Amino acid sequence: MPEGPEIRRAADRVAAVLEGRVAEDVFFAFDRLAHRADELRGRTVTRVETRGKAMLTWFDDDLAVYTHNQLYGRWFVRKRAGFPKTGRSLRFAVHTDAGAALLYSASEIEVLDRAGLRAHPFLAKLGPDPLDRATTARVIRVQLERFRRRRLGALYLDQAFLAGVGNYLRSEILFEAGVHPDRRPMDLSPDERASLARATNLIVRRAYQTGGVTTEAARVRDLEAAGQPRRAYRHYVFGRAGRACRRCGETIEKTEAAGRRLYLCPSCQAA
Ligand SMILES: [Zn+2]
Repeated sequence: MPEGPEIRRAADRVAAVLEGRVAEDVFFAFDRLAHRADELRGRTVTRVETRGKAMLTWFDDDLAVYTHNQLYGRWFVRKRAGFPKTGRSLRFAVHTDAGAALLYSASEIEVLDRAGLRAHPFLAKLGPDPLDRATTARVIRVQLERFRRRRLGALYLDQAFLAGVGNYLRSEILFEAGVHPDRRPMDLSPDERASLARATNLIVRRAYQTGGVTTEAARVRDLEAAGQPRRAYRHYVFGRAGRACRRCGETIEKTEAAGRRLYLCPSCQAA
């Protein structure tokens, strides 16, 4: 499933053809939404916003189309007329004079006003999003305090704790902070909690800037220059079971937390 940084990058592409422009045509595939297309046509797309893994496309600042890609949804952005060659089914489309934003395969699509957004069961319980500038390390420390009894491995997938963090970010953040996923915030020293809060923002924001690469830029440059493929430098631990830790040389282990695979270095992240 795409995580917060991937959705934010998709939102940037969508915004490039929609934001500040009149929606000349709007299409919904689902019958339950078809009548809303008439309501949105002719309005201006004022903003394309993300909240964790959800996207909000705002029309005249008072109606938003809420979309969640889940596993299968995929955005295509076109600068010219026409549709991409794909076997997927088109679910939502907005056309402007700059191009078209086309959402395929997604099933979670709703049109909401502000009251509807506040009452939305998924959005209403979302925690702060590390891609939001207002989510400082201090905000994350407060969240760690709120959820202090939860094991970090499960906590980091809980969207009520932090919005947008998913499976690869979870492993990478815990490695960057040097904490074992079985520990709870209450088990950490104040320094460890501060370091975990910083690592959270660092890794999520880096993944947004790089398009999903979580390792540091200098290493990426070296390995890219040496002709290595992206998978050779993309992550510290995620997907690297049996390989050497990039920091200490110990063998990376694969385990499971909250039903999903998790990777860690047993030496850098001692239990
Ligand atoms: Zn290590």
